[in-house]
Amino acid sequence: MKFPLISELVTVDVTILSVEATLNETITLMYEQNHRSVIVRDNTRYYLISASDLLKLKLKNYDFNQKLSQMRLVEIPTIQKDKNILEAISFLEQSIEYVTVINDEGHFCGIITHTDIISNIDPETLMDNYKICDLININKPIFAVKVNAKTLDVLTNMVQRNLDNVIVERDSKPIGIVTTKDIMKLLTGSFDLMADISKYMTSPLETLQEKSTLRDAINFMKNKHYKRIVVVDEKEKIVSIMLQRELISLSYSKWATIMKEYSSELSQINEMLNKKTKKYEQMASMDQLTGLYNRYKFTELFVSLYSTMTKRNNEMSLIMMDIDHFKNINDTYGHNVGDKVLVDLSLILKKHFRNVDIIGRWGGEEFVALMPTANMENSKKIAEKIRLAIKEAKLLDDLQVTASFGVTQIKMGDTLEAIIGRADDALYEAKKSGRDAIKIKS
Ligand code: GH3
Ligand code: MG
Ligand code: MG
Repeated sequence: MKFPLISELVTVDVTILSVEATLNETITLMYEQNHRSVIVRDNTRYYLISASDLLKLKLKNYDFNQKLSQMRLVEIPTIQKDKNILEAISFLEQSIEYVTVINDEGHFCGIITHTDIISNIDPETLMDNYKICDLININKPIFAVKVNAKTLDVLTNMVQRNLDNVIVERDSKPIGIVTTKDIMKLLTGSFDLMADISKYMTSPLETLQEKSTLRDAINFMKNKHYKRIVVVDEKEKIVSIMLQRELISLSYSKWATIMKEYSSELSQINEMLNKKTKKYEQMASMDQLTGLYNRYKFTELFVSLYSTMTKRNNEMSLIMMDIDHFKNINDTYGHNVGDKVLVDLSLILKKHFRNVDIIGRWGGEEFVALMPTANMENSKKIAEKIRLAIKEAKLLDDLQVTASFGVTQIKMGDTLEAIIGRADDALYEAKKSGRDAIKIKS
């Protein structure tokens, strides 16, 4: 068994219209075809518009003679119909509700929904793919008696045939059951062997349809604490009596087969998800522009490093750097050039710090570096080198920038907040002194 192809799941009963249609035409079509949402096509792009979108526009008194092309619509992604469902997993992560299915030539084939994807990859729901009638052994004899059978005859039969249960029927339909447990109950009191069995049977008899799924059968047994299930067909005729242990062992072996067949696909999914998780973790800890740690990750690393370093009695310090008149660069050359400057300066920073140091982008054009093995004087020397390197760097066609620095010593019992506070004070002093400078505050 393989995971299904998209083409096996596609829903073709979809309303699709051109982006040239008006809102009024859209509503009419939706109403006629009884669909809550429609797909809008604009060449090779697809969009979705729902009844609630239309309602919102109506409430805003929007002109419904306008064309869909004049509106901002939500684009929905596409997938080719011969792709495996595995390739649709990324849509789940993006909480995408609908995906347009297209063929090789890019023609529209239908849609698949979030639910279509989920229900076809979740191994648990595979249990829904097996009907109880696929599992039952129809050759197993069922012993049934009529409702007016005499108790004596029923008991004699049970003993002679070594039966642990007898079904009681009326008009060929099961209405009760007599089990060995019922017999035990009878034996503890006085009973009339000549009475109809209906007097002693357990009734009513709850049955399970043979078309029920394996999952339904398991839940049925679990919820009712039954030891056996009487399986019936559509006409309520008994098909089989299934014992609890039979059901469990059958479903277990089915489950094991499914798992074996799916194991390679499941490990593929796992691998994909692991890769994604790693990527997300990285994204969450890195500043996207410069590749330096972001403030969140810097703080996290500070906490763990601070505790190890204080145990070792190391001297630690922190440098805070802010680019001078950075606003002017943006204003004069544009934001893109500003971004490029940030990237270039972060490369200079990376070059001057050692592997043990932690460099982060604290905010817009502010950077912090934690030096776990340097005191304030050493850090000041490093800051000095960086200050010169920045000043002398030829960025983007002779653009020149400078930066100011605040340096502080980290003390026992310090908090990051207090440390940053002191570095910020020192940085402020550096700015006040005319920028392109370094100040310290212990
Ligand atoms: P000062 O010397 O006093 O630090 O002056 P400044 O202009 O550098 O300081 P200010 O804080 O007024 O301006 C910082 C500017 O940095 C403003 C903001 O637009 C810009 N900035 C912040 N983040 C980014 C970014 O990611 N990219 C770009 N291009 N600019 C940014
Ligand atoms: Mg600033
Ligand atoms: Mg600045």
